[in-house]
Amino acid sequence: MRVILLGPPGSGKGTQGDLLTRTFGFPRISTGDLLRAAVQAETPIGLKAKAVMDRGALVSDDIVNALIKDRIFHDDCREGYILDGYPRTIFQAETLDSFEPGRDEVAVDIRVSDEAVVKRLSSRRVCSGCHRVYNVKNTENKAVCPACGGDFFQRSDDTPDVIRKRLHVYMEETAPLIAYYISKGDYFAVDGERDIASVFEDVAAILTKARGNIGIREGIS
Ligand code: AMP
Repeated sequence: MRVILLGPPGSGKGTQGDLLTRTFGFPRISTGDLLRAAVQAETPIGLKAKAVMDRGALVSDDIVNALIKDRIFHDDCREGYILDGYPRTIFQAETLDSFEPGRDEVAVDIRVSDEAVVKRLSSRRVCSGCHRVYNVKNTENKAVCPACGGDFFQRSDDTPDVIRKRLHVYMEETAPLIAYYISKGDYFAVDGERDIASVFEDVAAILTKARGNIGIREGIS
């Protein structure tokens, strides 16, 4: 089972993905995290990707497709995995299908308005140690991350101009995936403008039901 988390930047894909990992045990694979790690390690991919990411554009399909191909065949993905931020283009979705033709999947679209995205991302702060995400109003009176003691930082692509650009790229390049997954019959939408627990209740129910259906199809009770 692969779970594809769709939704604009700031819709809560990372948060919901982490909760899914805790509940279902599937690893969360974020191309954004993989790319940021490459940037930090100054690998050839990281050096190429940094400027593109900083301006809110998409890194080339070849690069992210290769990162995903490298990751999804690890042992921990055998039962399932959660994709956060991939695919982001129709070509990436088709490439993913070509890696594992016919794999059971659900695409969960976490729907959030543009206004909510701008508000959330411009107040997002991240811990440099454990990568937990905070709202700036919860970090202002703290020197360091209460979970691990790391410093807080603002992502270089969480500035108003770049947020607007990322939203534009989402509408142009990624939103067409909604029709793609509807046509495959794998599409589900949830209202992402509620509290984290309520959103998760819906996301988990979709996954539980989908896994049950697979069990029925395969004769597992
Ligand atoms: P994210 O952490 O998912 O918001 O991703 C941060 C940035 O990494 C994006 O704005 C893109 O520049 C790049 N990125 C992440 N995933 C992809 C992808 N699947 N395709 C192209 N670029 C990506």
